[in-house]
Amino acid sequence: MRYNLHMNTNELILSELARLYPDARPALEYRTPYELLVAVILSAQCTDERVNAVTRELFSEHATPQAMVRLTQEELEGYIYSCGLYHAKAKHILSASRDILEKFGGSVPSTIRELRTLSGVGQKTANVVYSVAFGGDAIAVDTHVFRVSNRLGLASSDTPARTEEDLRSVIPQRDWSKAHHWLIYHGRRVCHAQRPDCAACTLAPLCAFRAAQKE
Ligand code: SF4
Repeated sequence: MRYNLHMNTNELILSELARLYPDARPALEYRTPYELLVAVILSAQCTDERVNAVTRELFSEHATPQAMVRLTQEELEGYIYSCGLYHAKAKHILSASRDILEKFGGSVPSTIRELRTLSGVGQKTANVVYSVAFGGDAIAVDTHVFRVSNRLGLASSDTPARTEEDLRSVIPQRDWSKAHHWLIYHGRRVCHAQRPDCAACTLAPLCAFRAAQKE
């Protein structure tokens, strides 16, 4: 990477992440905010590839809240079984779909506050839908973002909520959504949970975890 003497460590890290992953984007397939919401609920403790395989079939028949609520809990569980946690996920999807129909006129709400009122929608899911589907500025902290940002030293926190606060304070708002995807890409490709590939990582000279290993 190229160093700019006027940049601090966090700025250098963000600059390098932007250089590494200029085309970073969501791996979940969706055509509407509703499809994205369902896909994100399904993605808890499940790979994006598995979710995409499941939603391709599910959305071919049930791509709207109106169509989804025609399914019984058991019928929906049959579609999403392979995503894991299928009982709770089916319950959340049906309940959120009913809320969207009854409280939001059939459209997924576009604010984080309203998204958080939907069943099964926590801060991470609300942030993803807000930023990806509606173009809002948000940093969703999933397992990769949490791990990589704390290793790098962009955050220094032991909870996703505090990590989000740390990241919002060190990343310019215009980059919040992009940084979410940069950190996910880096977590998947280099900074693995079990064996981070520090020897191949161009961020190693800037990384707090790497520096601590050498002490
Ligand atoms: S140097 Fe190692 S721990 Fe730090 S970001 Fe790179 S892979 Fe992760």
